[in-house]
Amino acid sequence: MNTKYWSATARSLTPYVPGEQPRLANLVKLNTNENPYPPSPHVLAAMREEIGSNGETLRLYPDPTAASLRQAIARHHGLLPEQIFVGNGSDEVLAHVFLGLLKHDQPLLFPDITYSFYPVYCGLYDIDYATVPLAADFSIDIADYPRENGGIIFPNPNAPTGCLLPRSAVERLLQTHTESVVVVDEAYVDFAGEDASMIPLIDRYPNLLVVHTLSKSRSLAGLRVGFAAGHADLIEALNRVKDSFNSYPLDRLALAGARAAYEDHAWFTQTCQAVVRSREQLNEGLRALGFVVLPSAANFVFARHPARDAAALTAALRARGIIVRHFKQPRIEQFLRITIGTDSQCALLLEALREILATPA
Ligand code: PMP
Repeated sequence: MNTKYWSATARSLTPYVPGEQPRLANLVKLNTNENPYPPSPHVLAAMREEIGSNGETLRLYPDPTAASLRQAIARHHGLLPEQIFVGNGSDEVLAHVFLGLLKHDQPLLFPDITYSFYPVYCGLYDIDYATVPLAADFSIDIADYPRENGGIIFPNPNAPTGCLLPRSAVERLLQTHTESVVVVDEAYVDFAGEDASMIPLIDRYPNLLVVHTLSKSRSLAGLRVGFAAGHADLIEALNRVKDSFNSYPLDRLALAGARAAYEDHAWFTQTCQAVVRSREQLNEGLRALGFVVLPSAANFVFARHPARDAAALTAALRARGIIVRHFKQPRIEQFLRITIGTDSQCALLLEALREILATPA
């Protein structure tokens, strides 16, 4: 490849490899933690209404402040609109967080096994970081996080393990690390039960930033909407970065569709509950087949089979049209990360695994 015209930054970056997004419709796709159910019908209606009969609105720029969406999210969480920042998926929100809040003289801290985008952003923005090993049971141990740092970030539930840190532990971290920004990436929190989110702590801790996505629990991965919630002073740092990057964070359809998703609470709770029910069934099914499954509070499970190689299992499932995620990372290379599908998709997965395990390795 001719990299003659590339900047030093572009040359220094190793390409991020996202989960496979195949086009074949007949695959059972359990690899990137999408919701198996469609979004609320209110979302579609609102997007159609936004376009109108002749697309006239598309000629016009969207609201650069995303005021009505921030208002809807703030109302839903009992916050003020100035405590909310929105972006194109939480990946973009996180990019602004890394640049606006996590680039300091001391290294940023995050778990050694976590969302693989964090080190990628550090590379992109030249942020020094140090990783903190997960405990033997794969949980995050807050006692291991030194006081001196340039910020702390972790997903809760963690990815790809699915393990949840209780609110009391995060609160202790906030209290013992008042000089650090603590970013809790709650991409999967809506599958973790009522008291799992840290959003209710925001008014008590000016160093807490919570990041959410509409990709998982609201079935809108294709629309690309995420948000951060925190003290207005933290949000202002993100606005400064955003205004220098792209002053129109979301397009008109995303704004209208995301707002409507917050107006259909019944749809949201029903689909989340269905996913959680299926997760518990899948857990049981996998254990019955001999898998060790980590306790998951997310819309995926992380499981290993003591007698089978995870890469071989992934390939054997792929050959049967079922895609799961496998990470070639020390300590977790024998695990499969399996997204919770519909009950029939989970049944197909268990049936395929039963067949694979019945044949010699
Ligand atoms: N955080 C975590 C922990 C994730 O697993 C993901 C999804 N891959 C994201 C953030 C980004 O989600 P999105 O950009 O779709 O909002």
